[in-house]
Amino acid sequence: MWYISTRGTAPRVDFEGALCSGYAPDGGLYIPEELPQLDRETLGRWSSLSYPSLVKELCSLFIGPELIPREDLNGLIDRAFSRFRSRDVVHLQKLKHGLSVLELWHGVTYAFKDLSLSCTAQFLQYFLEKRGKHVTIVVGTSGDTGSAAIESVQGAKNVDIIVLLPKGRCSKIQELQMTTVLKENVHVFAVEGNSDELDEPIKAMFADAAFVQEHNLMSLNSINWSRVLVQMAHHFFAYFQCSPSLDTHPLSPVEVVVPSGAGGNLAAGYLAQKMGLPIRLVAAVNHNDIIHRTIKHGDFSLSQAVQPTLASAMDIQVPYNMERIFWLLSGSNSQVTRALMEQFERTQGVHLPKELHSKLSEAVTSVSVSDEAITRAMGRCWDENQYLLCPHSAVAVSYHYQQMDGLQPSAARCCLAPASAAKFPEVVLAAGLTPEMPEEITALERKETRCTPMRRGDPWALMLRDTIEDLSRRWRGRSLRGLQ
Ligand SMILES: *Cc1c(COP(=O)(O)O)cnc(C)c1O
Repeated sequence: MWYISTRGTAPRVDFEGALCSGYAPDGGLYIPEELPQLDRETLGRWSSLSYPSLVKELCSLFIGPELIPREDLNGLIDRAFSRFRSRDVVHLQKLKHGLSVLELWHGVTYAFKDLSLSCTAQFLQYFLEKRGKHVTIVVGTSGDTGSAAIESVQGAKNVDIIVLLPKGRCSKIQELQMTTVLKENVHVFAVEGNSDELDEPIKAMFADAAFVQEHNLMSLNSINWSRVLVQMAHHFFAYFQCSPSLDTHPLSPVEVVVPSGAGGNLAAGYLAQKMGLPIRLVAAVNHNDIIHRTIKHGDFSLSQAVQPTLASAMDIQVPYNMERIFWLLSGSNSQVTRALMEQFERTQGVHLPKELHSKLSEAVTSVSVSDEAITRAMGRCWDENQYLLCPHSAVAVSYHYQQMDGLQPSAARCCLAPASAAKFPEVVLAAGLTPEMPEEITALERKETRCTPMRRGDPWALMLRDTIEDLSRRWRGRSLRGLQ
């Protein structure tokens, strides 16, 4: 399987290349040259698989056995999920009034990013060990990515991870999840600035190609192909769990409601749809509604600024993964995609060509949900089921309640739940409900923390570079002594 860039001018790469590079050199995103098509028989066979087995089947279609033999792949995926709290890894909760919630948050950091990052980190370590190489991962985060990335590589021999977090702007729990992992390969900086400000030194560094190459730097953000790949599995799982029957001709559809920020989860769902899974996708967003405006009106343009909402992990200005959806919709046309994205980058806004827009609105519908509707959905779900939703899950469930109260009978539906309510006690309180805190989370407060401050006036970019150079030196020292 080969991967090409959505912008069409970068050389093709294999899975290892796509995994290790994030963006393609032409600024595009990697995407499989060809999508496998799944027939009814395959879907029938997959329908009874456990979630981990589904991940294995799916990944084996996109990672050739010449890169990772099937037996190794199975082992890596088992290892990835070995620290999850639930053996099933994900769990479908059926609630009153036809509400089905797919809990994707049984990993160590209580959010769905654990699913894809744990697998991605295993794949990465596999290749690094094989090649005797070392990478330094650099992540800027204000949400769940940093903690899941740290968790997925903590203690790994061939990986160092540097995380920059905006001090005081993540939730208390998110910050503690990042600063309490006291492993030698984990380096956390608490930056006195907002997430845009902390992105600057990172961007400047990644723009220095020679430095990136010399020190094997990589990011692990949501545009990484490997993350998107793994996320396809829960769309399949949602379909099989919620489809009324697999015996009808044609197969009956299931609507999957996807709380969306950067659109990684949504792109994964659209890829699954393109492979033949009969799902209808609903992109559910908060007040930051660029995806919604794009689907409704073809208006792919930035708003003035990011608006803080109760569903903070979806407070995002640029939904990077839409580029993959545009490419697929355009019939794999990289010229169209490149023109569109370059104009977007120049002018911060572009109107989709008519044909592309009509294809998009056929493939995906959308809804934008206010803070008030988020707390209302949390309250109603609790009243009806004594079940707490996190604010992001509530964005999806709010759509369910809207549809249920409408007149049209609706298809089977599955709402994705990207995080646990336990991670957002402030919002649970604001909704007039009582947080339920697992011991693991309350215990964070008592743990020792470690992070390096980056104060205003400090030379942030220089501090970052020094750290990276130091890590490379340490790795070279270790490998010279034969300790790698
Ligand atoms: C990252 C995240 C999202 C957004 O997912 P995308 O794939 O970026 O659209 C939604 N909810 C939670 C809790 C998240 O951590």
